[in-house]
Amino acid sequence: MASITRALRPLSRTTPSARLASKRLATVRPIQSAYAFSTTPRRRDADLSELTPTPISLLSETETMMADMVSKFASEQIGPKVRDMDEAETMDPSVVEGLFEQGVMGIEIPEEFGGAGMNFTAAIVAIEELARVDPSVSVMVDVHNTLVNTAIMKYGDAQAHRTWLPKLSTGTVGSFCLSEPVSGSDAFALQTKAEKTADGYKINGSKMWITNAMESGIFIVFANLNPSAGYKGITAFIVEKGTPGFSIAKKEKKLGIRASSTCVLNFDDVVIPKSNILGEEGKGYKIAIEILNEGRIGIAAQMTGLALGAWEHAARYVWNDRKQFGQLIGEFQGMQHQIAQAYTEIAAARALVYNAARKKEAGQDFVKDAAMAKLYASQVAGRVAGSAVEWMGGMGFVREGIAEKMFRDSKIGAIYEGTSNIQLQTIAKMLQKQYTN
Ligand SMILES: Cc1cc2nc3c(=O)[nH]c(=O)nc-3n(C[C@H](O)[C@H](O)[C@H](O)COP(=O)(O)OP(=O)(O)OC[C@H]3O[C@@H](n4cnc5c(N)ncnc54)[C@H](O)[C@@H]3O)c2cc1C
Repeated sequence: MASITRALRPLSRTTPSARLASKRLATVRPIQSAYAFSTTPRRRDADLSELTPTPISLLSETETMMADMVSKFASEQIGPKVRDMDEAETMDPSVVEGLFEQGVMGIEIPEEFGGAGMNFTAAIVAIEELARVDPSVSVMVDVHNTLVNTAIMKYGDAQAHRTWLPKLSTGTVGSFCLSEPVSGSDAFALQTKAEKTADGYKINGSKMWITNAMESGIFIVFANLNPSAGYKGITAFIVEKGTPGFSIAKKEKKLGIRASSTCVLNFDDVVIPKSNILGEEGKGYKIAIEILNEGRIGIAAQMTGLALGAWEHAARYVWNDRKQFGQLIGEFQGMQHQIAQAYTEIAAARALVYNAARKKEAGQDFVKDAAMAKLYASQVAGRVAGSAVEWMGGMGFVREGIAEKMFRDSKIGAIYEGTSNIQLQTIAKMLQKQYTN
């Protein structure tokens, strides 16, 4: 069967290589969504009026190369390991090494710091392509690129860039540590404290649900430096693995994305130098909000890729392998309608994801678009992965194929980086503001 991605995005005849691709910055073509279904005003200083509208799924040459390269790496290098990694609930170190070698751990990091120097949409298509094969690997790349790298690029000073970015793009995985046992959706109720020392800061507290923790060497940690100021005391710090007092207290056993590590971290009198602050004191809440707004587009891409991976797996089976009543089961109209409906929903989710990514790149307000993309893509992932199991009958239910894994993995899309209720709240709040006289 022809590749679905190729049906949805233009072909690239160039040899895939992110490193090669990085030699030229991606050409971004902002979509004139302000004239279509956009409800956010266009940024005043960006005049897009001369641009010809293009299909939202049209990628630049470098973005296409990234998609092709990651797709090849995922199917050849990750695919054969997916089942074992899921059963062992462990990320194979060779996969992590391969991700760094391919240049997908520093997609937006400038070349001078060892990164690929590409744009946000290149990261989005990489996350999507990885999720088509393994959502666990996809979330590792997503958190590392869209949360950790972005936070340091955006809020770190020149010294922070020189210190952390080369490590993050060439061999050290990163984690983003906001959630705690007492603070999930209400993230800024966090209890981890920081205090000033003579030449730095001391951190005490616990973090929960931290993705990549087993593999990471660099942790962005949110702690309150001035609890009497409430959320305005929250500050972001960088803690390295091996710092005395830092420990991984527990690795969670999960329903899905089992190869992705999710851990509880303890900080007992963890002393860090002054230079390990990220951004300004008391501005951690702003960093967390802004970074997560962008990060949500990454999770939406992960869910879109997951849905496509599950759909493709089942489509191949019903249209090639399984016959009942003397014909392929995918030839029954009852099946065909469901398969077409699911594919349409995936395409719609993808359009929301790319639109949010392009709006971010164009400097437009994208917060509502990111929330809608994450909400909808996680709903589609759940529906499509569930249908894929059913379309394959008993073969979908057993742990031989990937349908049951995709079904389990899909649930996380409605939980992390803001639950579905929280996305709905964001969307409703922005709409209400817009429609209140
Ligand atoms: C596998 C995994 C990986 C994660 N990775 C990370 C990570 O790397 N870094 C990190 O900081 N965090 C991470 N998280 C944490 C994640 O972001 C939180 O789990 C999420 O924000 C929800 O918080 P909670 O689990 O405490 O649920 P709760 O906040 O307790 O929510 C429980 C339910 O109540 C609903 N609810 C809560 N408040 C409202 C409201 N105001 N209105 C309506 N409904 C509401 C929610 O929608 C949800 O259905 C991860 C979580 C998981 C499971």
